[in-house]
Amino acid sequence: MSFSLELTEEHRELRDWLHGFAEREIRPAAAEWDEREETPWPVISEAAKVGLYGFETLATFWADETGLSLPIANEELFWGDGGIGMAIFGTTLAVAGIFSAGTPDQLAEWVPQCYGDADDPRVAAFCSSEPDAGSDVAAMRTRAVYDEATDEWVLNGHKAWATNGGIANVHVVQAVVDPELGSRGQAAFVVPPGTPGLSSPSKIRKHGLRASHTADVFLDDVRVPGRCLLGGKEKLDERLARAREGGKSSSQAMRTFELSRPTVGAQAIGIARAAYEQALEYAGQRETFGRPIVDNQGIAFTLADMRTEIDAARLLVWRAAWMGRNEVPFTSGEGSMSKLKAGRVATWATERAIQVLGGSGYTREYPVERMHRDAKIYDIFEGTEQIQQLVVARAISGRHIP
Ligand SMILES: Cc1cc2nc3c(=O)[nH]c(=O)nc-3n(C[C@H](O)[C@H](O)[C@H](O)COP(=O)(O)OP(=O)(O)OC[C@H]3O[C@@H](n4cnc5c(N)ncnc54)[C@H](O)[C@@H]3O)c2cc1C
Repeated sequence: MSFSLELTEEHRELRDWLHGFAEREIRPAAAEWDEREETPWPVISEAAKVGLYGFETLATFWADETGLSLPIANEELFWGDGGIGMAIFGTTLAVAGIFSAGTPDQLAEWVPQCYGDADDPRVAAFCSSEPDAGSDVAAMRTRAVYDEATDEWVLNGHKAWATNGGIANVHVVQAVVDPELGSRGQAAFVVPPGTPGLSSPSKIRKHGLRASHTADVFLDDVRVPGRCLLGGKEKLDERLARAREGGKSSSQAMRTFELSRPTVGAQAIGIARAAYEQALEYAGQRETFGRPIVDNQGIAFTLADMRTEIDAARLLVWRAAWMGRNEVPFTSGEGSMSKLKAGRVATWATERAIQVLGGSGYTREYPVERMHRDAKIYDIFEGTEQIQQLVVARAISGRHIP
């Protein structure tokens, strides 16, 4: 069997297409939307017009047997800008939730409503985290109770940090159906557009990713039809019965996280690469002591380290993406490993880029300070740095490290 790390023609075309869009539509808009701290609807609309925002594109990425399309696309999008990248990609979190748990009928009903269309684009939100249940998912308290008389589910709770929370057309909400079963007693529900009882009074003001809307979501006696339980009641009852008998089911949830983490890692790499390129360019132009600063080893070696770390992180991301797509078992937490490395590299490389640019790097005249603010989130969401370490540590030691 032949082995190659060379990208295929299709991958190169995809990369160039997304790079062109990022360069043309995202980069020039980045500073404005960061300052405004608002969802960049015109850019989302443009992405929808060129066919970049919608389920068909996502399905094409998922279909790629190498698994690389998704990380390649995300790296280019986030190379353009982290905040706008997340404004475009955030809906995918909810779509992935529907895709992983929903029936084909549910996919057909809800996914188009997540995206809207090019003339009227919409966004969707995935609401799992709560004020007291971020890393500790089993501490979730949002409750879903079935009302047999009306065949409705009644949701009550407080969701925290939801990307697109409150401005979404469709909210996918994770809730507890059987409190005695911990994380195995949870299920996912679609809350359709305009459902009474769902509110989101204010957005959260953030350090970075400011063009991406983040907000708490409150659910106050939110009633959704029975068909909004993703996967359906029969399947849920079977799963709960298995859990009550002590059967294992957590490995599927873990695998879902391992599958999504390389994509998130690729976003971090896009931001890191953008900062590295800016630093490289600046170092060749800025002169001190009569020569370009890149002629000093202190600067040149920093750039060499940045490039090395970024390339290393990308290889970990691509490996995990390939493993996930080809169902190769993650024996050492390779998905988490890739996101752990990519997040750290992005935080570190963007900080180094500020250093290379000196005083200019610390100002809003140059984009590296924004990139640094954007990069930091990759040590926090989709599992913090420490949670990734925990997954890898448990996998390599075979022990339940608390
Ligand atoms: C911009 C943004 C967007 C987000 N988008 C979404 C979204 O769309 N949907 C959603 O559901 N959530 C979202 N989140 C929530 C995010 O996933 C959580 O913030 C994250 O999981 C961490 O949870 P926490 O903030 O409660 O931190 P905590 O869990 O309180 O952690 C605090 C610190 O303690 C450490 N820690 C916790 N437990 C352990 C342990 N066992 N061992 C060692 N260290 C530990 C953590 O690593 C961290 O450093 C978003 C958050 C942000 C900031």
